[in-house]
Amino acid sequence: MCDRTVRFGVLCDMLDAISKARNVSVKRKHLRTFFDQVYTDREYYSAVRLMLPGLDKERPAYGLKEAVLARCLCDALAISKDSTDARRLVNWKRGSNIFNGSAGNFPLVAHDVLSRRLSSSPGDLTIRDVNAFLDRFAMGETRDDKASILSLLVKRTSAQEMTWIIRIILKDLKLGISEKTVFHELHPDAERLMNVTCDLKLVCESLKDRNKRIRSRDVTPGMPLRPQLASRVRDVDEAWKKFGGRRIIAECKFDGDRIQIHKIGNKVHFFSRSVIDHKEYTEGMSWVICKHVKVEKCILDGEMMVWNKVTNRFADFGSNQAAARSAKDGLETDQHLCYVAFDILYAGEETLIDQPLHERQKVLQQVVEPLKGYLEVLLPGGDAALDEKQPPWSIFVNSVEEVNKFFLQNVENREEGILLKDLESKWDAGDRSEKWLKLKPDYVHAESDLDALIIGCFIGSGRQGGEISQFLLGLAEKPKSGGLPTRFFSFCRVGTGLSDNERHDLVCKLKPYLKRNERNARPPDCYILTNIGKERPDFWVEQPDKSVIVEVTSDIRSIRSLYFTTPYSLRFPRIRRVRYDKPWYDCLDVSTLQQIMQSRDGG
Ligand code: ATP
Repeated sequence: MCDRTVRFGVLCDMLDAISKARNVSVKRKHLRTFFDQVYTDREYYSAVRLMLPGLDKERPAYGLKEAVLARCLCDALAISKDSTDARRLVNWKRGSNIFNGSAGNFPLVAHDVLSRRLSSSPGDLTIRDVNAFLDRFAMGETRDDKASILSLLVKRTSAQEMTWIIRIILKDLKLGISEKTVFHELHPDAERLMNVTCDLKLVCESLKDRNKRIRSRDVTPGMPLRPQLASRVRDVDEAWKKFGGRRIIAECKFDGDRIQIHKIGNKVHFFSRSVIDHKEYTEGMSWVICKHVKVEKCILDGEMMVWNKVTNRFADFGSNQAAARSAKDGLETDQHLCYVAFDILYAGEETLIDQPLHERQKVLQQVVEPLKGYLEVLLPGGDAALDEKQPPWSIFVNSVEEVNKFFLQNVENREEGILLKDLESKWDAGDRSEKWLKLKPDYVHAESDLDALIIGCFIGSGRQGGEISQFLLGLAEKPKSGGLPTRFFSFCRVGTGLSDNERHDLVCKLKPYLKRNERNARPPDCYILTNIGKERPDFWVEQPDKSVIVEVTSDIRSIRSLYFTTPYSLRFPRIRRVRYDKPWYDCLDVSTLQQIMQSRDGG
């Protein structure tokens, strides 16, 4: 069987079974059966791109969200815009009781409407047909174009199938499993290959036989790799112990944007952590890279920052876009983009990720010629003799004391923290193991700086009367391995730290998912609250997976929580920044908070 013959309904049955199963191992079993028994030709790509639509880079963006999709669906189903069903679709996020608890969940509201109009028996579309329809849907420029494609689809699908198509378009399948799980069932090397290519098609086409392992794969300039990440440690002693006597370096933790630079001749790409090519850096940075990187093809890993010529320091976090704009507009300002290269993954015609860090650093030194304030290269100075005022950016460290000294100097210098790296380690795409450890002041003492998820919003009074001015934050319950968090515990309430513009942007992003908290109504099941009376927000963010992470900082002391569900809360919390770059499930979990607080309180 292949994508030309496998009915889309078979995929939908499998997706239904996965989303209903509570146990991850049962979910895995459904996936495996599908791969082994349904797709006998092993051309998995056409199905996998529907299962992981967020990773499908081949199809252009659909360019619409629930609100427009609702209108397209009304047109496709020829529902009059004043009818109850049209209003239900358009107002999908409002009121819970009227819509059988499906409000706030567009696919469920749509299913409700579709099930009264479409057949319950499977349609005749194959997986290949659905992909072809989705291509046309993505290419459709106007709402009418899109509606006419939906009208063809609704004639050939059941309500269940059409609901899955809607979820695929919205790129949110709610299967309760991570992509890791899907990759694992596809092939033992799938995740690894995805990490170094970010190319779903290539992964599916190269890995058709689970029994045939691929050992390694060359890195290709132009194909972004998922970044190597750092694991956090509470204190210097813990970090030192973890490295167990291996040779390490300590580096300043720069507070900019992680950017992977791919140079191919005169063409330069700037891939962010979420593998988006940030073309806005081209004017300000391409010339520097072309002139100062001495090989034709190269991949650099580093942090995009902004250098202030007047203060001779890096500018504060958040200045990158303005500096990129000034460069684009040809404006002379005090601040300009500056790239700090801390690693090299490819040079000339050679893949370097499997070489130890100290070897990669040698290549980095040979290949990249620094340009003060524009292109900096992070290499260890060679000894731990530190300048008391300005610590170096990178040093070899030979003892706990040296790490501690470097760390304290960085904290005093108002840096974000430090990273410790094993000099023998390979560069592992997508890895957050313990080859890189990060140490931030908040984990140890001083301020806290924690990533929490917004779960509710409060209307303000005074200057911000009538507008959302405060947020209820939650922390995740640690998920079982392979799963995503499903419950969030209320943690603290925060109102300060954002500018009016930042608040406005944040509220706009959350608005489609806010549900008014009616009197005496229970909070959504995914939120666990201790004292509903005291911490009752005016709105819930109904779907945690649509919410946003904020980094909060607070007074040095944590407080035992009285009103909130987590055992600790924060004194005078303040939002340090909104983390649009972090997926919702990457927020702090309650047990890690407990460890941080206990170690800080000396307990
Ligand atoms: P955080 O929220 O603490 O910034 P994160 O979750 O964004 O961390 P981590 O992998 O935990 O990412 O921390 C590593 C990040 O630190 C990198 O993604 C990079 O953006 C940044 N960074 C700054 N300086 C360095 C450095 N010298 N080496 C590696 N990463 C660095």
